[in-house]
Amino acid sequence: MFENLSERLSGVFDRLTKQGALSEEDVKTALREVRVALLEADVSLPVARDFVKAVQDKATGQAVTKSITPGQQVVKIVHDELVHVLAGDGEAGALRIDNPPAPILMVGLQGGGKTTTTAKLAKRLKEREGKRVLMASLDVNRPAAMEQLQILGTQIGVDTLPIVKGEDPVTIAKRAKTQAALGGYDVYMLDTAGRLSIDEELMAQVAAVRDVANPRETLLVVDGLTGQDAVHTAENFDDRIGITGVVLTRMDGDGRGGAALSMRAVTGKPIRFVGLGEKMDALETFEPDRVAGRILG
Ligand code: GDP
Repeated sequence: MFENLSERLSGVFDRLTKQGALSEEDVKTALREVRVALLEADVSLPVARDFVKAVQDKATGQAVTKSITPGQQVVKIVHDELVHVLAGDGEAGALRIDNPPAPILMVGLQGGGKTTTTAKLAKRLKEREGKRVLMASLDVNRPAAMEQLQILGTQIGVDTLPIVKGEDPVTIAKRAKTQAALGGYDVYMLDTAGRLSIDEELMAQVAAVRDVANPRETLLVVDGLTGQDAVHTAENFDDRIGITGVVLTRMDGDGRGGAALSMRAVTGKPIRFVGLGEKMDALETFEPDRVAGRILG
């Protein structure tokens, strides 16, 4: 997920920890390299700048240059700052899916992995939390997308709302709500339609669905490979729809990880899960502490 960044940083810190006593200039040089590494990982410029400044301030405050293991001290400060940038001020926590049936709205651009992630998450809720889940596709423009969700549902043993031709997304959302209540489901997931890029028609449609479903969680599914574009997409959806969290997909293919590092700082919204492959089990919760550890090797 962060192979390239991790490699770059371990190069910087290896030199630093081997060095013994450190001058302020040594720390500065190392942090300049950290900044370049972050930018190369496609972390946004303000985030990279704030990150390095925060580390610099703490390193000065803690008199790193006078400590016995100054290099390790710097690594520790960088670790803590990574956790901070990944987690923000609050914890992401578990999904709010008490009070059945709890609606989860899945939003995002076409091809970002929304339908796949809907099914992955449904499987996870069923297997790990014993939840009864109903999935419904609202993608009326693409019958293939509706069928795709149905096929995945059969594959993972999760029910899907029967497809009725000619219904609009709001009507389907209402039907899912009724069906979820009558059928005794714990959760119902609404897989909304995506577009190739953000447009007003899409946003109006998703907003109308949100208004009838009143979702407990609204998760934006976005392709992590698109780096800063993923962050912009999240900002857009949050402004227009209001999201409660982000799922970054294709992180199995991203050796840079910039989207993950900028997301919370730029949007204020937590990354809840990461997609790590096409298989139905390839979904992990996003734990800032573990991720920071992974980045620093
Ligand atoms: P949607 O248009 O947003 O619903 O996107 P889909 O769910 O149809 O996914 C588009 C493609 O991306 C499919 O081929 C998925 O198998 C693939 N995909 C989704 N998530 C991941 C992921 O985390 N890693 C990888 N490698 N592929 C993924």
